[in-house]
Amino acid sequence: MALSIHIEGAQMRYPGGRERPPYMALENINLEVRGGEFFCLLGPSGCGKTTLLNLIAGFERPTQGSVKAAGRTITGPDRQRGVVFQTERALFDWLTVEENVAFGPKIRGISRSEWNDNVREKLHLVGLDKHRAKLPRELSGGMKQRVQIARVLANDPEIMLMDEPFAALDAYTRGKMQQEISRIWENMRRTVVFVTHDITEAIWLADRIGIMTQGPRSFIREIYEVNLPRPRRNMTKEFSDLFNTLSAAIDAEAGHARDEGPA
Ligand code: ADP
Ligand code: MG
Repeated sequence: MALSIHIEGAQMRYPGGRERPPYMALENINLEVRGGEFFCLLGPSGCGKTTLLNLIAGFERPTQGSVKAAGRTITGPDRQRGVVFQTERALFDWLTVEENVAFGPKIRGISRSEWNDNVREKLHLVGLDKHRAKLPRELSGGMKQRVQIARVLANDPEIMLMDEPFAALDAYTRGKMQQEISRIWENMRRTVVFVTHDITEAIWLADRIGIMTQGPRSFIREIYEVNLPRPRRNMTKEFSDLFNTLSAAIDAEAGHARDEGPA
């Protein structure tokens, strides 16, 4: 079953330290992500996308407001919510592809005979069957991101949280990965929150796109529906219209932040 996410009045204020002042990264974030929806958070670098994703993952707690999954307050990381990180370094260097993917089921004490089919299936889904005995250092960037995705899928999470997972890939591989993640999502229909600063990527993937304002005190300025048929690989008139709308919204936001910011 696909779970929804409810965020109400969420604030994230980083406390700062001896040399650093506190920083109000997020303020008054309100968002409902529907069960089974592919939701993209779109915003410029540094606006607070990772911070918001960390709240949903349970890595951080909001300093005000509430973040809930399926009606329950999120108090810490949970297998219900799988996270794909931006960095390829999220893999265990000393484990093979298959061992990386089997890591979750293994630490839950599930026996090999039980996880074996599941892990094979997930490796197949991301196209890594033939590479399962390799170590991460023997893989390309795109392959490492696939391992991360397979690893998350092997835990069968209700919610997938992805933090710019394809940002470091070359344009061709990124396109391939976008198609792959769309296909996987269409098969599984899990709730996805996908962070990106790439407008095109957001349009290819999302049911809805939330635009975050520049920080400090970032919030979700507006939510756009993407009513394009899937699979989406064509630069249609509807695509370019939406691209222009989103682009203008982000530019307006950038100008807004400059006007208000300190000199
Ligand atoms: P994004 O993912 O959109 O690039 P982040 O969520 O990483 O943005 O960061 C948002 C803002 O919060 C940035 O100004 C960043 O410097 C600040 N920030 C992130 N993590 C911390 C932290 N642990 N302590 C203080 N400030 C932080
Ligand atoms: Mg980030």
